[in-house]
Amino acid sequence: MATSPKLDARVPKGEIDQKWSKYRSTVHLVNPANKRSLEVIIVGSGLAGASAAASLAEMGYKVKVFCFQDSPRRAHSIAAQGGINAAKNYQNDGDSVYRLFYDTIKGGDYRAREGNVHRLAEVSGAIIDQCVAQGVPFAREYGGVLSNRSFGGTQVQRTFYAAGQTGQQLLLGAYSALQRQVGMGAVKLYARHEMLDVVNIDGKCRGIIARDLITGKLERHFGHAVLIASGGYGNVFYLSTNAMGSNVTAAWKAHKKGAFFGNPCYTQIHPTCIPVSGDHQSKLTLMSESLRNDGRIWVPKKAGDTRKPNEIPEEERDYYLERRYPAFGNLVPRDVASRAAKERCDAGFGVGASKLAVYLDFSANMMRYGQIEANKQNIHNPTKEKIRELGMAVVKEKYGNLFDMYKQITGEDPYEIPMRIYPAVHYTMGGLWVDYNLMTTVPGLYALGEANFSDHGANRLGASALMQGLADGYFVIPYTIGDYLSEEIRTKAIATDHEAFVKAEAEVQERINKLMTIKGTKSVDHFHKQLGKIMWDKCGMARNTAGLKQAIEEIKKLREEFWKDVRVTGEANEFNPELEKAGRVADFLELGELMCMDALNRNESCGGHFREEYQTEEGEAKRDDDNFAYVAAWENKGNNAWELHKEELIFENIKIAARSYK
Ligand SMILES: Cc1cc2nc3c(=O)[nH]c(=O)nc-3n(C[C@H](O)[C@H](O)[C@H](O)COP(=O)(O)OP(=O)(O)OC[C@H]3O[C@@H](n4cnc5c(N)ncnc54)[C@H](O)[C@@H]3O)c2cc1C
Repeated sequence: MATSPKLDARVPKGEIDQKWSKYRSTVHLVNPANKRSLEVIIVGSGLAGASAAASLAEMGYKVKVFCFQDSPRRAHSIAAQGGINAAKNYQNDGDSVYRLFYDTIKGGDYRAREGNVHRLAEVSGAIIDQCVAQGVPFAREYGGVLSNRSFGGTQVQRTFYAAGQTGQQLLLGAYSALQRQVGMGAVKLYARHEMLDVVNIDGKCRGIIARDLITGKLERHFGHAVLIASGGYGNVFYLSTNAMGSNVTAAWKAHKKGAFFGNPCYTQIHPTCIPVSGDHQSKLTLMSESLRNDGRIWVPKKAGDTRKPNEIPEEERDYYLERRYPAFGNLVPRDVASRAAKERCDAGFGVGASKLAVYLDFSANMMRYGQIEANKQNIHNPTKEKIRELGMAVVKEKYGNLFDMYKQITGEDPYEIPMRIYPAVHYTMGGLWVDYNLMTTVPGLYALGEANFSDHGANRLGASALMQGLADGYFVIPYTIGDYLSEEIRTKAIATDHEAFVKAEAEVQERINKLMTIKGTKSVDHFHKQLGKIMWDKCGMARNTAGLKQAIEEIKKLREEFWKDVRVTGEANEFNPELEKAGRVADFLELGELMCMDALNRNESCGGHFREEYQTEEGEAKRDDDNFAYVAAWENKGNNAWELHKEELIFENIKIAARSYK
């Protein structure tokens, strides 16, 4: 298979461990005086956007940052719980840059680009140093060194964490660095602004159209380059662990203006979420993967067992992950753990009222920790109760906020009875296609963080999203953007009365007017829920040809109905969350179709993309490397038509093999 001529990944030549260092030494630079007249727009203030903004401003570029929340601190990154990976090998347990590279490629089911992933592993250690220098309070061992835990798909402990609030602490670090630049006037911040289009002039991206969400006014902004760091699109499923505001709009507008969309069907379903409890829900809650360090997953051995979990004796429990995957046990990657949970529930072994749940049980490790504590404290012959009490304190220290959250939502005390968990939509590996420079197929338009497709292949390993977002922002884009901007030093700022800006703004205005004038009978949420159901049922954890074909037809119909019958309350020239939602759902209604098309095209199973027709006898994903070892990059042809381009994935450093965690 040959790579499409429209896709040039621009991965530097040379040995894998030399590519990035050689690139950095030879990439074109922009001198400090010229940086001051180059303007960069960043859409997004999560970990990817904030870190990029702080870094580029520190380097001397003029930066504008946009976010739709009232403060960059509310970006969805704040929700990240479990941790961030880095190949520091503090545990002396065999970690290395190569091993992180290998785990990530294998974890992604051999559907990621080697050059990018190796670079990610190389810069991972520097991220931790940077964050520590900013004051991020990572957990530490008694002696003061940074502590680590394990995440799925690895056999080493390389995950750095700050209790169950790692994203929040990292974001506060990036936000502080950003605010420093805002204070110095190097970054201009546009909170409560939503980017609604990109503006291309003579084949290059030159700015955006944004809506001031308080006044409803449309604004034009010029930039020599535009960076999209707008996060993931899991909310296309309506129910997900994402913040309710997370959406695809910025990436989708970029896509419609020429940026190819990579691997849209790769969705991560996280195995440990609080199960759906009814139709009233608008959001699902993650129970961090870090819990699988100490929580053991099981279901009763007897189908339909109605006993309470604590009444089921040890020998009547099926620790199915430990049984099926002894080498990785409860820490198999997310796609594998999710499918295994679904398999048990589908076979009738599910627990709880809905029977769509499995147990995550801490009792054994609570006792183990308790015994260690008793030894440490010289308590001889402690009672069982004492051991439990001591162990509970250790578990509380590690995961207290997650346990509290679970209790608040379910009303059950996970210190006393096992948590009930079930898989839920969590992360999107797909996103805007980018080359090694993180540039999309539109010159001057970049994508960072979860908004791009890179690095995670068909399945992201836990704690690798924060790593990738911060790698992109702190350590990659500061170099790669120079490659482009060094050619732009003679380009003066383009006035925003240029016809391309006028036209783009008029189109945005027209769409808003259209949404406001339909005055139909059904709420935006009605359409979003319908779409989510189609996506979950037919393009969720399991997919098949007939279902995907049906889904495409159903989405087309739903989209038509939306544009005839949606009711958007309020006015356009005021703060109007309903209008914001309507625009986002309209974009989801287009994206959903593309996701199904991509899933239908990929006649294999890999990572988060499980096609029922392609599985082994044991129910594992069956790849087809001969025909599908490529990135699917979709070009928008207008009117909901797309053309597929392929980037061949070449594995020169890792032997492509069947993925096994046994
Ligand atoms: C509950 C949960 C827990 C997680 N835990 C972990 C973890 O422990 N470890 C890990 O590695 N990963 C974790 N992840 C994944 C990780 O948090 C995300 O992938 C990552 O934070 C995304 O960062 P980002 O900067 O790309 O985007 P985000 O943080 O989502 O930021 C997006 C930004 O874009 C802005 N934006 C979006 N659209 C527009 C627009 N049209 N106009 C203007 N601004 C816009 C938003 O305002 C926001 O500022 C978790 C995810 C979830 C859902």
